[in-house]
Amino acid sequence: MYDLIIAGAGPAGSAAARAAAMMGLKTLILEKDAFPRYKPCGGALSDRAVSQLGFPLPKVLCERTITGARIHFRDRVLERHKGSRLTTLVTRSCFDQFLLQKAEDSGAIHVTAKVLDYRETDDCVFVSTKNGIYRARFLVISSGCQDRLKNKIRGQAAKESMGVCMVTEVEEDDRIIEERLNGSLDIYFGVAEMGYGWIFPHRGYYSVGIGGLASRQMHARKMMMEFLKANGFPLNQMLHGHLIPQGGRGEMVARGRVLLTGDSAGFVDAFSGEGIYYALRSGQIAAQVIGGVPASKVAETYQSRCKKEIGDELGYALQLSKMMHSHPEIFLRILASQDEVLDRYLEIATAKGSYKGFVRWLVPRLPISILRSFMDIFQSKGL
Ligand SMILES: Cc1cc2nc3c(=O)[nH]c(=O)nc-3n(C[C@H](O)[C@H](O)[C@H](O)COP(=O)(O)OP(=O)(O)OC[C@H]3O[C@@H](n4cnc5c(N)ncnc54)[C@H](O)[C@@H]3O)c2cc1C
Repeated sequence: MYDLIIAGAGPAGSAAARAAAMMGLKTLILEKDAFPRYKPCGGALSDRAVSQLGFPLPKVLCERTITGARIHFRDRVLERHKGSRLTTLVTRSCFDQFLLQKAEDSGAIHVTAKVLDYRETDDCVFVSTKNGIYRARFLVISSGCQDRLKNKIRGQAAKESMGVCMVTEVEEDDRIIEERLNGSLDIYFGVAEMGYGWIFPHRGYYSVGIGGLASRQMHARKMMMEFLKANGFPLNQMLHGHLIPQGGRGEMVARGRVLLTGDSAGFVDAFSGEGIYYALRSGQIAAQVIGGVPASKVAETYQSRCKKEIGDELGYALQLSKMMHSHPEIFLRILASQDEVLDRYLEIATAKGSYKGFVRWLVPRLPISILRSFMDIFQSKGL
């Protein structure tokens, strides 16, 4: 009998496992894939995500330090640098393996096994795998957004609440990468509906991808090929497709003895696509709640802490995303006309700012003509 079983050893699962084991809870983490495994991701780890780790990120994992962003829309380019680190680029296979190792070092037991299903009783959860059945007081589902385990709590996600991404890794000489990107993340609006394209610098390769709302991406592969071609990359790349939640809708993330974390809970920023920070944070909250409150209060406490610490913020990100993608030209004009707008937005990555603070700061500063436009968007979207 374990205190908790965690399904999935991505950032959410490993963060939950480490925090729980450090609290002295008997913790089992079940992961379907043998690590290290490939994970489709841009690998941008914001500074606020790094600050959640609870230990320094080893230098060998830090492939690039990012201090700014370059935003492309049609033939315009906006570039801002903060003069300090906003984001660190990591390769997910290595980063995730390291997090899992940290969880094991803290006392969590790791078994490679796919969780097939679970059954809850009054005082425990039976978790079935091909290897057999395990039993725990609680189950934490951290198995990402493509696995079905979460559906028993949240139901099947609607296409309107999911994004779809295509990503590839383009090998390149480090010197050329440095010259091309110069400490920036390259973001391209207008290449995917309700989303963007990206070129992120890593060690020896670029992460190149596009992502947008699933219900609007009818030809994601074709759009990705066009994006690769437009940026001078080879077209014979291995492409990986993956779903990504568009968080902020305030869904149910816990019931009885089962808690959802990270992508399983839908905790991804709909504006930027950042999910690692929320995965780490929700994993930690799950462990703290399981270890800290009576069993009968766990689901309710977890739900309300997630709403307060994660859900409300993701709600603002979702609103910003809807505004931006309804009128990208207006939004880009605002960014171009006031340096402070992008400066303030970038502070979210370092936790010096928040979406709530950003949206509340932005609205009164908008020129009256643009404000009218935004008010129309708000009203037409019922926001
Ligand atoms: C293309 C793309 C680019 C992205 N870029 C960024 C970025 O640059 N920065 C950022 O912050 N976020 C990014 N994200 C989002 C980020 O990848 C996710 O939010 C994050 O990985 C969520 O972590 P997680 O632990 O919840 O789930 P995952 O990382 O998906 O981990 C889930 C784990 O569960 C395992 N698993 C699945 N099913 C089972 C099962 N039944 N039993 C046992 N194990 C199971 C999987 O093998 C996996 O190891 C990106 C997402 C995509 C798709």
